[in-house]
Amino acid sequence: MNTNQSALVLHSGGQDSTTCLYWAIKNFEEVRTLCITYGQRHACETEAARKIAENAGVAFQSIDASIISLLSDNSLTNHDMIMDQEKPTDSYPNTFVPGRNLFFLTFAAVIARSHNIRNIVTGVSQADYSGYPDCRDTFIRSANVTLNLATDEQFIIHTPLMWLSKAETWAMADELGVFDIVKNDTVTCYNGIPAAGCGHCPACKLRNGGLEEYLRRSKTTINPSLPY
Ligand code: ZN
Repeated sequence: MNTNQSALVLHSGGQDSTTCLYWAIKNFEEVRTLCITYGQRHACETEAARKIAENAGVAFQSIDASIISLLSDNSLTNHDMIMDQEKPTDSYPNTFVPGRNLFFLTFAAVIARSHNIRNIVTGVSQADYSGYPDCRDTFIRSANVTLNLATDEQFIIHTPLMWLSKAETWAMADELGVFDIVKNDTVTCYNGIPAAGCGHCPACKLRNGGLEEYLRRSKTTINPSLPY
């Protein structure tokens, strides 16, 4: 495998990382996915990731990192906790899993290195994120430097969605020709319901709000006379 032409995609089976997977397939000759489980409420996310990778014709690997859920309490892994629907004014929502993306990127770098891959792709976004500090561009740049120093390698962490809104992420999926795959085959919902999901959890509100905005804009573009 040519180091510069291969990429490892952190893939959860959701809208963002699936769009990133197809972005990577367009931009690199060889792509493989890494799906990390950490005691989330629903296993169907991993199954969705496996099927999407299989249909895309790329290698799929999943690893169990359940220890992440033992390190702190959060509503994604603690099934007894009531999930915050909004971001509290003075703290992070209880869907925040402290350190998650740092762990994920570290696992990704170690596994990428073992496959002689130097490009790592992750779907984090600062523009339309849920208030998590480890989705910010500053953190990703810092982690990139740290991982390079830790391994004496030259990884490049790609974040194609960093500055995109959810509506713009839908537009990217459409431009990549995978709008229907992202719309129908992914699981973004915190309650583990595929496609449009439960409709009321924070992840569904963000995803579906972005989709409505994108569809409204694209219809306006196609025919400005339509009453949208
Ligand atoms: Zn939901």
